[in-house]
Amino acid sequence: MECDVAVLGGGPGGYTAAIRAAQLGAKTACIEKEAELGGTCLRIGCIPTKAWVQTAFAIKEAEETFAKLGVQVGEPNLDFAAANEWKAGVVKQMTGGVASLFKANGVEWVKGMGRFKDANMIAVEGGEDVTFKQAIVATGSFPLVPPIEGIDSPRCVDSEGLLAQEQVPGRLVVLGGGIIGCEFASIFRRFGSEVTIIEMLPKLIPMEDDAASAELAKQFQKRGITLHLEKQCTKVDDSGSALTVHFGEGETVEADLMLVCVGRGPLVENLGLEEIGVEFDKRTGIAADEHRRTTVEHIYAIGDCAGYWQLAHTAFREGEVAAENAMGHDEVVDNRGVPRPIYTDPEIASVGLTEGEAREQYGDDVEVGIFPWVANARAVMQNETVGWVKSIHESRYGELLGVVMVGPHVTDLIEAGVVALDAEATVETVADGMAAHPTLSEAIKEAGLVALGRAIHLPNRKRAKATA
Ligand SMILES: Cc1cc2nc3c(=O)[nH]c(=O)nc-3n(C[C@H](O)[C@H](O)[C@H](O)COP(=O)(O)OP(=O)(O)OC[C@H]3O[C@@H](n4cnc5c(N)ncnc54)[C@H](O)[C@@H]3O)c2cc1C
Repeated sequence: MECDVAVLGGGPGGYTAAIRAAQLGAKTACIEKEAELGGTCLRIGCIPTKAWVQTAFAIKEAEETFAKLGVQVGEPNLDFAAANEWKAGVVKQMTGGVASLFKANGVEWVKGMGRFKDANMIAVEGGEDVTFKQAIVATGSFPLVPPIEGIDSPRCVDSEGLLAQEQVPGRLVVLGGGIIGCEFASIFRRFGSEVTIIEMLPKLIPMEDDAASAELAKQFQKRGITLHLEKQCTKVDDSGSALTVHFGEGETVEADLMLVCVGRGPLVENLGLEEIGVEFDKRTGIAADEHRRTTVEHIYAIGDCAGYWQLAHTAFREGEVAAENAMGHDEVVDNRGVPRPIYTDPEIASVGLTEGEAREQYGDDVEVGIFPWVANARAVMQNETVGWVKSIHESRYGELLGVVMVGPHVTDLIEAGVVALDAEATVETVADGMAAHPTLSEAIKEAGLVALGRAIHLPNRKRAKATA
């Protein structure tokens, strides 16, 4: 078939780009090899994982909160088959939703594996070849497997393999304390597994604010998750009925299953990119500028195959921008306000600079305010007082540099910080604005007040102590 814009890959980046290009009047084809649209995110990533997070949260409420609030329901009991059915239903609704949006916007879904034949044609295995004027590459990423003896055991699974489990493992080892590892550790601890995390760096979620990582480690340990930081996994033995995972200096842990989640690599090989002159690096992905243009003028690249972030929402935005530029606009991606949500218990959500980054860039001209959830009425009535909100600004002009939050529903609340950073707001804008009362969102304003030394609901100290 002939089209104006061809999109290779139907994940968050690709389907967004395809819909946006079609909205702008392009005849658009999206080539996707899987039986459902939606990519890693909808099929085997964000959506099914967060459906389990919701099940875990329901158990937590039943275990820790219902009785306190005067609701008697008895001992909670996980029906894992029902939880999986719920997860599958959510995934089906979301992937089906993308297919409906394609129909509504007139995007043609070409089913099959695509590969560039030349700079204006994608050959599709098992489908019709697609010729195009502009193309957008959105092929995503794949889980990396470290070279460790024994890691090819069927008991060592990636996130897709873990999501496919029909039984809760009694003992789960998580190799890699990044976002995906910590989210699954949090879920499976709540599902009743004994969970051990092995991470070679000295902190969980290595890129995140130090205090947020430390708070998560503290809460995980309180919840009975065993942490082995600064330890490398050296070998895995499969006895046929269990695993012995070797790590550090001769230490071992027994497990029924090991989740291997040490990072994801960009999917850039076997796409014919070399032949058409699109430059890429196997580790960092396709080179693309802020317009999402590659080294070939009419070919764009977005999302995990071409990105630093590996987040669905950065892929969404890059998809919009690439499609608009492919249709003659002049748009750029602004990465100042990229939210960083982590769906652990407690949740973490940040935007902008971490405190460490702010101090590195602005030296002594940095002010920080921390407001603990224990001083927020809505958090108290929800029985969710672990964690805090941190406001970070530079003290010359008061520009807000970052917001870091640990605690209840912060992944939903972070949008306030995103808007503030995108608008180049000062800390006064946040602190002097009104927040509805009683809400969790008040804590963002309150953290700003603490940073300005004007706290009302806390003893008036610039840096209130984070409590848990
Ligand atoms: C367990 C897990 C949890 C996650 N949770 C979150 C979260 O909560 N929030 C968040 O923001 N991000 C999350 N992510 C990351 C998120 O899923 C990715 O950043 C996002 O899916 C990237 O979108 P994409 O469009 O670039 O790639 P993908 O979603 O990977 O989509 C790429 C698509 O291209 C298709 N494709 C590849 N090659 C070809 C080819 N040659 N021909 C045809 N089709 C092809 C693939 O089949 C796939 O459907 C999570 C990831 C994982 C693994």
